[in-house]
Amino acid sequence: MELLKEKIRTEGKIREGNILKVDNFLNHQMDIKLLNEIGKEFRKRFEGERVDKILTIEASGIGVAAIVSQYFDYIPVVFAKKAASLNLDKEVYETKVQSYTKNKIFNVKVGKDFLNSGEKILVIDDFLANGCAAKGLLDLIHQAGAEAVGVGIVIEKGFQDGRSVLEKEGVRVESLAILDRMENGQVFFK
Ligand code: 5GP
Repeated sequence: MELLKEKIRTEGKIREGNILKVDNFLNHQMDIKLLNEIGKEFRKRFEGERVDKILTIEASGIGVAAIVSQYFDYIPVVFAKKAASLNLDKEVYETKVQSYTKNKIFNVKVGKDFLNSGEKILVIDDFLANGCAAKGLLDLIHQAGAEAVGVGIVIEKGFQDGRSVLEKEGVRVESLAILDRMENGQVFFK
């Protein structure tokens, strides 16, 4: 997706530990026009698939998923919760996710009411690095007896293992921009 790549080239900032910061348009301030183009592109890529719900993970997946939903006939967006919450029902599907950016393991949960057997689920997230977040979401989907239609990623770090981890799970991965490498303050795409 050329528009997204151009945004990453001009506004992305490379940080230690192979972290790409995109706070200017995705992870802090959000460019809603760009997010709408992202929504349209995911719709195109998953054309012809039945999708009942979108599943993402808090916090940064939520904004993207909410806009993507509008291009899938406003299907519900469910976000897995990382924080221990008194509000969350006791009946939950739960899995562990190693956070790439926070270097911490989270217990990630979804209320059992919000994922159901037989549903077709599209996973959406902002980044794919080692695949822990997306793999955790697939685990929640499997626990519910639902089915993953695919994983839609805005920015894939193609030099990390995420894609192969997910493809080993037999799931389709669609990324809108795939980074080949980050060098001398510059981003190169595959
Ligand atoms: P994974 O679980 O695939 O290792 O990492 C994906 C998650 O970590 C995403 O949900 C995203 O929030 C975060 N993440 C991984 N790499 C980056 C990065 O380079 N930049 C930003 N902003 N987030 C990242």
